[in-house]
Amino acid sequence: MNQEIEEVKVLIIGSGPAGYTAAIYAARAGLKPVLYTGGQPGGQLTITNDVENYPGYPDGVMGPQMMDDFRRQAERFETDVRYGMVTSVDFSQRPHKIVVDDQKVILADTVIISTGASAKWLGLESETRLNGKGVSACAVCDGFFFRGQDVAIVGAGDTACEEASYLSNICNKVYMLVRRDEMRASQIMQKRVMLNPKVEILWNTETVEILGEDEVKGVKIKNNQTGAISDLAVTGFFVAIGHEPNTSIFKDFLDMDESGYIKTIPGSTRTNVEGVFACGDAQDHIYRQAVTAAGTGCMAALDAERYLAELELV
Ligand code: NDP
Repeated sequence: MNQEIEEVKVLIIGSGPAGYTAAIYAARAGLKPVLYTGGQPGGQLTITNDVENYPGYPDGVMGPQMMDDFRRQAERFETDVRYGMVTSVDFSQRPHKIVVDDQKVILADTVIISTGASAKWLGLESETRLNGKGVSACAVCDGFFFRGQDVAIVGAGDTACEEASYLSNICNKVYMLVRRDEMRASQIMQKRVMLNPKVEILWNTETVEILGEDEVKGVKIKNNQTGAISDLAVTGFFVAIGHEPNTSIFKDFLDMDESGYIKTIPGSTRTNVEGVFACGDAQDHIYRQAVTAAGTGCMAALDAERYLAELELV
């Protein structure tokens, strides 16, 4: 088969706030960016409801609507937005080689990685079946639906503590399921949940099964010290056991931390490979906000533009 190879100046991988912001800046700089959306066009915000903390939306906005706005703004300046999944890369040569959907080959002078991160799950069949029907990995997104109800949250890191505190303002009761006899979270976050009268921490507790056919009716738990099994009556089940950056296809070429977050040179979006830039949650395990992702997306486009100018490729 005679395969046509396409050459682009700026290739953006991923379509969350970081990717689209990079696209807006690169397109307005005349760089004709091509953006591949990945498997979840719009990213994590498309599975959330109200976004109330993104500046510029004083009345809040629905996550999918906001990402549609981002896409339209990027397309207005002629970003070439394409549906497709980057399946492999070769950053050992320049221009960099990118393969889309195991078929199409692109040679890019610069690559902006904005592939984001995905929530980790426990891996239970009932968790998958009831996802969106009472099971959620985002308390801030879905807590609202459990106003005045009893819920459980699994995890013992800063995210779980933060989300348990958040849920306690909305729900009647929050059970926190902690698998060990101590938490990983920072002291201040632990103290906050321990002192919260609406949060009950169940130590040494694992989730056996989430109960319910079409909606969450409860959760079967096991005390891993005593082996005792019991049921908790809850209508919401939140999973807060961490996130995984979507960076595995880059692991042979880019420096990453032990969790797979791409390392960037401080104060920039530059990676260890020249011409490859990383922004958004793929390189940020701390802030993980739409607005910080968008900010680093802007930085990535400006870094890419400077790099191209230095090499006199623009
Ligand atoms: P972490 O990796 O820090 O914590 C994950 C937690 O989930 C751990 O307590 C872990 O238990 C538990 N866990 C993992 N797998 C399972 C499982 N199968 N069953 C039950 N429990 C499980 O992730 P976070 O998302 O909490 O935090 C990520 C990073 O973001 C951290 O560096 C954190 O400090 C930071 N962060 C900071 C915030 C802030 O400062 N405001 C807010 C949110 C996050 P175990 O401890 O037993 O391994």
